[in-house]
Amino acid sequence: MPAASKHDYYETLGVSRGAKEDEIRKAYRKLARKHHPDLNPGDKASEERFKKVQEAYDILSDSKKRQVYDQYGFYSDNIPPGGPGGGPGGGAGQPGMGFGGFDFSDYVNHTGGPQTGGGAGAFRDIFSQFFSNRQDERPGGPEKGSDLEYGLDIDFWQAIRGTQVRLNVARQEICETCNGSGSVGGSSTVCPECDGTGSVTQMAGAMKFSLTCPRCDGKGRLKNVCPTCHGDGRLSKTETVEVRIPSGAQSGSRLRVAGKGNAGRAGGAAGDLYITVRVEPHAFFRRDGDDIHIQVPVTVSEAGLGAKIEVPTIDGRALLKVPQGTQNQQKFRLREKGVMNARKNQRGDEIVEVVIQAPKVDDERTRELLRELSQVSSEDPRKEIWTKV
Ligand SMILES: [Zn+2]
Ligand SMILES: [Zn+2]
Repeated sequence: MPAASKHDYYETLGVSRGAKEDEIRKAYRKLARKHHPDLNPGDKASEERFKKVQEAYDILSDSKKRQVYDQYGFYSDNIPPGGPGGGPGGGAGQPGMGFGGFDFSDYVNHTGGPQTGGGAGAFRDIFSQFFSNRQDERPGGPEKGSDLEYGLDIDFWQAIRGTQVRLNVARQEICETCNGSGSVGGSSTVCPECDGTGSVTQMAGAMKFSLTCPRCDGKGRLKNVCPTCHGDGRLSKTETVEVRIPSGAQSGSRLRVAGKGNAGRAGGAAGDLYITVRVEPHAFFRRDGDDIHIQVPVTVSEAGLGAKIEVPTIDGRALLKVPQGTQNQQKFRLREKGVMNARKNQRGDEIVEVVIQAPKVDDERTRELLRELSQVSSEDPRKEIWTKV
């Protein structure tokens, strides 16, 4: 009897001894993706882990092999399920098992050796078989549909006031021909991938070993594939989804529309649609959280003498009192003239920054007044600069 590998397959996949088929499959996929050599180039530890995961799945995904493993603590092709000489089907139920005299664990546990070097390509083949085009596979339990991500541009006012938008979302829906099952009535056909044996032979360098047929998942037979969805049970369709963007939405806000992601499999719930909002900037208003910032020009005399000026807010015009002696870039706060924050049930403020505009001098009278002003005020606006240069 060939030496079997020592590790605990259940532990390797992180599942309990009573784990169901689809639980094992999910655990395997998650781990295989994580440790796949393509995703971890040059990482020996990951490669080893990947091989162990492959091996564990090879055994535990096959009910006959699993039975042997559960009974003896290891698996060998030479032991029929139920023990030597016993058990339904015995070894005869597995024709074409292509170990070719090699022990699988031999391949798996080697760290040096020629087979490891040539192995990467073979792993890639196995990997791609497992993760692509599994349209004939019908997992036992329901599987939730995947979520969809969508980016949405809205303008400044839509974000402030909230808006209703219609999105054309490309999503997978349940196929109506087969009601999501992927197959239509009538008798099943023999799986062409494995000729009905339920397992396929993989070459890895000079090594040959056997895997559960990825196409029929070891069942050996395929159901009649639905002609509409080609077995997937779902179809890509573009659906118009009405979405309400609440008032006060900010750039980067993420909204969830429940049930509008891709349809689930085998009766599983649909995924969700996530919409990430991007708010286009406004020509004058700038948002900072719930506050609105705006720069407003004032004349020299308004700033110097003080004035009541009209400033724009998101509600329309508001009156701002500019006090006497206001300086350039001085800021004033208009309370609760900002954006409504629905969570706090409170509005932000508007911050007005005044920008003093020099007068246009195109008449003699203005020139006269400015000359007079310079005689009266002998202030040197550059005094501060000279003390620091
Ligand atoms: Zn269909
Ligand atoms: Zn097959």
